[in-house]
Parts: sequence; structure tokens; C-alpha cells
Amino acid sequence: MALGTDYPHQDCSLARALEVVGERWSLLIIRDAFYGVSRFNDFLVHLDLPKAVLTARLNSLVEAQVLAKIAYQQSPPRYKYVLTESGRSLWPVVYGLAQWGFNHVSGGMPKMLFSHTPCGSRLDAFGGCPACGGPVPPEAVTMQQGPGADEPMRQDPVSQALVQARPLLTPLAVDRPSRRSDSRRAG
Ligand SMILES: [Zn+2]
Repeated sequence: MALGTDYPHQDCSLARALEVVGERWSLLIIRDAFYGVSRFNDFLVHLDLPKAVLTARLNSLVEAQVLAKIAYQQSPPRYKYVLTESGRSLWPVVYGLAQWGFNHVSGGMPKMLFSHTPCGSRLDAFGGCPACGGPVPPEAVTMQQGPGADEPMRQDPVSQALVQARPLLTPLAVDRPSRRSDSRRAG
């Protein structure tokens, strides 16, 4: 029997939260949104997941108001997916879970490093700035590749664009020359 996707007999806010973000891929989609990924095809090439699964996860995250679906082009219609305020407040969860994975599961060298943008200090294990004190919101975090980054690098355009140090939540500009030729064929 397949496992259900909800926890009807668990009257607990953690169970409610897992119904929204606990599905396979959901947290990786949210992580990518913090990295600045916003377009369907960019999530697709970076996460290597089936199209139908990506569609379903994006729709459920929009329905849960974690992501907002925003039209950025009219014809043909194109949409981008950006974190809402509710979605941005998941940053400590995403960061904390990644830290836990590094410390207790994957080990080795970190693939990605996160620092406080104004002072350049590496975030501590709890996502705070050791120099300035206190928690750091994702708007003030800069990401850059760490010494454990995959070698050779993934060749998809999103991975290539993430090689440069960049502030979180900055829309990723991905070169996509093949799409221009696609639209010529379609037009
Ligand atoms: Zn700082």
C-alpha cells in the first residue's frame, strides 16, 4: 500500500507543516527558489525531476502560499515562481536541515558556503552571524561554492550560473539560446 501524503490523525503543527513541505522534492524546490531559480525549465534542469512531479509540487506550493506564481510574459504565457513572505520564513529550516545533513549524513567538505552579506562572516551552525550577532534573514545572505563542490561541475545552465558568489533571492539570469530557436520554430 502506498503511503498517504497527509497525517490526518496527528494533531500537531509539525505534521501540518510536513503536509506542505515534506513531500519529496518540495524542500529542494524551495532551496532552489532561495538560490534565485524561478522559472519552470530552470527548476527542471537543475533538479533532474520528472516534469509532471515538478508541476504537481509547484502547484501545491502555490496553493499553500509558499510560492507565488507570477506572469512575466503574456504571449506565450510564461510564469515564474517566487517565495512569498511565508516561503522566505522557511530559510532557517532549509539552512538548518542542510547543516544537519552535512554534520550527520554527508560529511566531507561543504558544497556551498553562506555568509552575512554586510560583513562577509560565515554563518554559524544556526544561521546567525558570529560577528554581528543574531539571526540573519535570507535577504542578507550571500552564497558561494564551497571546497566540496562537485568536480567536474554539473553542466546544466543553472549550476553554471550558481558558480559565481551571489546574494540569495536574486533572480537567476540563465542563458538559454536554444529557447530562442524553439520560439522561431513555433512562430
Ligand atoms: Zn555579520
